[in-house]
Parts: sequence; C-alpha cells; structure tokens
Amino acid sequence: MTSVDAIIERLGATRTCDSGLTREPWSFDSVRPGYGPGASARDRFPRNSPRQTPLPEEYTRATAAELQDRILEARHRLGDRALILSHYYQRDEIIVHADFVGDSFQLARNAATRPDADDIVFCGVHFMAETADILSTDRQNVILPNMAAGCSMADMADIDQVERCWRRLETACGTAPDADGRQQVVPVTYMNSSAALKAFCGRHGGIVCTSSNAHAVLDWAFARGRRVLFFPDQHLGRNTARAMGIPLDRMPVWDPFRPDGGHDDATWAQAAMILWKGFCSVHQRFTVEQIDRARKAYPDVTVLVHPECSMEVVDAADGVGSTAYIVRKIEEAPAGATIAVGTEINLVNRLAAQHPDKTVFCLDPVVCPCSTMYRIHPAYLAWSLENLVNGRVVNRITVDPATAADARVALTRMLEVHP
Ligand code: SF4
Repeated sequence: MTSVDAIIERLGATRTCDSGLTREPWSFDSVRPGYGPGASARDRFPRNSPRQTPLPEEYTRATAAELQDRILEARHRLGDRALILSHYYQRDEIIVHADFVGDSFQLARNAATRPDADDIVFCGVHFMAETADILSTDRQNVILPNMAAGCSMADMADIDQVERCWRRLETACGTAPDADGRQQVVPVTYMNSSAALKAFCGRHGGIVCTSSNAHAVLDWAFARGRRVLFFPDQHLGRNTARAMGIPLDRMPVWDPFRPDGGHDDATWAQAAMILWKGFCSVHQRFTVEQIDRARKAYPDVTVLVHPECSMEVVDAADGVGSTAYIVRKIEEAPAGATIAVGTEINLVNRLAAQHPDKTVFCLDPVVCPCSTMYRIHPAYLAWSLENLVNGRVVNRITVDPATAADARVALTRMLEVHP
C-alpha cells in the first residue's frame, strides 16, 4: 500500500494542494503559528490556540525507519499501560501503531472501555482528546502528540461567540416556553466542537450529535424546542434538516463576524433551524463538477460523500453518510464496483488498498489531507511515547471539572437517544 505521505513525497507540489506538504510539520511551528499546509491552511487561526513546544532534534533529525523503530520499542516497554487511538484520517505511518482506529465518537468510546490504561495517546485533533478526557476516568492521562493539532471547523465557533448569539436569540425569540412547554431554542453541537460548547449545550437543555446520529438527535431536539441552534458545521445541519423536511427559507445562517449574526430579529423568530457559519475545509473542497467528471469517466460509478459536504454535492451524490457509513458501503459493494468518495484522502486511499477487487478513488484529483490531522507526524508520537517510558507526561489534555460535568450531560443525552 502506498501511503499519502509517500505519494506527496513523489508528487511534490505538482498534484498536491500546497507545496508546504512536502516539508516537516515542525518547520511551520517555529515560523508562524497556523494550521499548516493542507486543506485547512487558509482558515482563520485562533490567537489563543495551544502551541506545541519545539521537538528535540533527535526526533526531527531521525529517519522514518528510526522513528518507526523507536515507536515500536516504546510501545513494547509501555505494554498495556498505554492505549493508542487513531482517527481514520491519520496517515498510515500512525495508523499502524493504533490499538483502535475509528471516527471521533468511536474512539472516545474506545477510551472509556479501557479504564485500566494509564495513558491514552490520542492521534487525532484537540476536540477529540477533550472528549476522551471527559469520558475517561480522572486518573487517566489523555495525550495529544502535537498540541497544534486543532480542528479549523471546531475553531469556527468559540464559547464567547456562542454566548453572544444565544443572548441575541433570547431577545429575538423570547425565553418563555411555548404553549406545548417546549423551549424557544435548543442548542445542538456537533461532536467536532470544543468541550466548552458541549458544556454550553449541557447547561441549556441541549445535546451533542455526530454525523451518524444527527437525524435522531434533531428529532429529540425538535420534540423539546421550537427551534434548533446548530453549530459549528452549517452543512451537516442543513443536509440533515432538509432531509427531515425543513425548508431552506427557515434555516438562516448565523455569521459570528457580522452584527446580530447578519439578520434581523424577525428572521431569527421565524427560523426552525439556525445554522452556524462553519465548515470543514476538507469536505468543502468537493464539488458537483468533480462528481460530473467521475460519472463521465466511469458511467457505472457510485458516488458516496460525507454530510459535511455542501448541499449541492450531497444532491449530486448517490449516497451520503458518516465515515462509518462510507467504510461499510465500500465493504458491502460487490467485486468490480467503482466507487468515488468525497471524504479525506488518507481514508480513501486506505480503503482503496484494502479493496483491490474494487475501484475506489477520491473525487478530488488534488492530494489534500486535513492539515490539522497531518500534524500528528511519527516524530511527535515517538516523542510523547518515549516521555511516557521515562515517567513524564507531555501534552496532557484536561477539561476542567465543571466544564466536563456539563459536557457529560449533553453527551449522555446523545447516548440515550442513540446508544
Ligand atoms: S477533517 Fe475537517 S472536521 Fe475533521 S479535523 Fe480536519 S478540519 Fe476538522
């Protein structure tokens, strides 16, 4: 199997979205804090984002083979003390070391099934490690190998912006329950959000959702509220609500950078689903033109896309669903099938390699991994594991107890709706 790393090295800047992808991630940490090369590179980088301390030279100068050996040796010495979790979108050079591979929610639950492990090394992004900390025991350490591995979508809604939006909606929609006893607005946050936003939902009668349970969660929310405030991904919110029959003209978008979110009180009052102006830079790259090209090249192609893609892309596809859905559909497809996929390139290429009897390819012809996922380079994994071997915990992610308690309320509601 050829990993995305190896492909980028071979292609250089010719068919990748950013020539910086060929450079090592630490070369960007020390120059200018940002998301780094890849799909999220041009998104607004929050000023107060965590920074990664410079990696010692013994890691930045090590060869790929040396790093793999060091990771294996550290893993061996740590034994069952350490649990390594890896998101589907991680590079193959990380995936090979994982005890579990899955989406953000599957991994958080995996963390909860191993209370015996002292250290949970989370090869994903910041909000995932926070959720693992909330769902794991107090004595367990959750470690993010590179502190700069955030998520540009999660960063598109912060707690101050959401509090401001909430106050505006209270003015526009009122705070008294309606005649059926439903609250005026129920906040729903996508799993891809900070612990502070999950806690906000816990405090305000709201809930968390994932891309696989968004419909069931919205049913729950509309049974308890006249309107839903959905953040931070507008596309998942719009695609799910539209499939439930909510008209587009009752789904205004709250823009946190415009006064009053960009609309007047009457617009918020008549809304059923208030969307947040956030998006995933990886899934926003997929277009209807790419789907048209795939259909022209392969008339029998099946197009599967993630619900973080735009509504137009979802409409043009044959199937839409979470990462787990895409994985399952490809597994179920008969030998000889051709499947074009609108999701992250590391996962798509791995699925293609796992199913050599099928033609599986990414809709986007340009190699463009999620830049924040891409920050978990083997050098950071080797560094964090070897520190554990030496009794030092680096890059521990902790959620303060009050925030964790409120966030757990919203997560528990989700689990009760969709175990
Ligand atoms: S793929 Fe999108 S949602 Fe996932 S971590 Fe990257 S930017 Fe965030």
